Amino acid sequence: KLGHFLPHQRLRPRALYTSPNGLFICKKGKIGIRQARGQRPRQCFLILCAGCVISLLMKIILKIGTNVLVNNKNCLDLVLMQNLVQEISRVYNQNHQIIIITSGAVATGREMAQSNQLFRSALAALGQAKLIKYYHDFFSQQGIQIAQILLSANSFKNRPRFNLLKETLLQLASNRIIPIINENDTTVLKDTFGDNDFLAAIIAVLVDAQKLVFLTDLDGLYSSDPKIDKNARIIQEVKSVDLEIQRMC
Ligand code: GLU
Repeated sequence: KLGHFLPHQRLRPRALYTSPNGLFICKKGKIGIRQARGQRPRQCFLILCAGCVISLLMKIILKIGTNVLVNNKNCLDLVLMQNLVQEISRVYNQNHQIIIITSGAVATGREMAQSNQLFRSALAALGQAKLIKYYHDFFSQQGIQIAQILLSANSFKNRPRFNLLKETLLQLASNRIIPIINENDTTVLKDTFGDNDFLAAIIAVLVDAQKLVFLTDLDGLYSSDPKIDKNARIIQEVKSVDLEIQRMC
């Protein structure tokens, strides 16, 4: 597309996306090249293939594990959480869509509970409120709205519910609201997802995400559980999901 653009410093607040090498997309969908302060506006021609556009505007599913959020006393690490939210906001403000799957409700509930008699489901209910409060506060500081969604396996078992969930997620994402999802630990029995990794994978497929990112205390995929097996080795790259990989999962 052909466009006329103002110098970078005046245009940047209106740009939807600015790449490190100075290309940007403004809100009207025109594409330009960043210019130094004081330079006259200039025209530019650029051709973007469909692949480029997808890589600029990605749907990213980000799964945040409990061990990332708590310190060595198993308490929510608020400084770390605030820094993490700033980093996520930086990526988000490049106009990607982000959906967060967070764990940490049970650990937060355990930190808060004044009785050690509470069931896991009660700890999750107690902790979830505080966990989402901090996400809300830290994202508000970045000028970003969030929404809370609690899901169980039943949410995916029937087509109308499945469709409603998909539409809700896409509508929130396209209205620049970050959905923050956790399992609804208060109502799950044997039908639990097990851990939120699986839930994150389902959501990635549901919304047709381009990236699924796991923030965890592990370096990557291991041949067996490194916390139990000293001989566990890390697998740098999975080229195909064969039977051996399936067995590890
Ligand atoms: N839903 C659980 C929580 O919020 C965590 C599940 C998991 O370990 O991933 O504490």
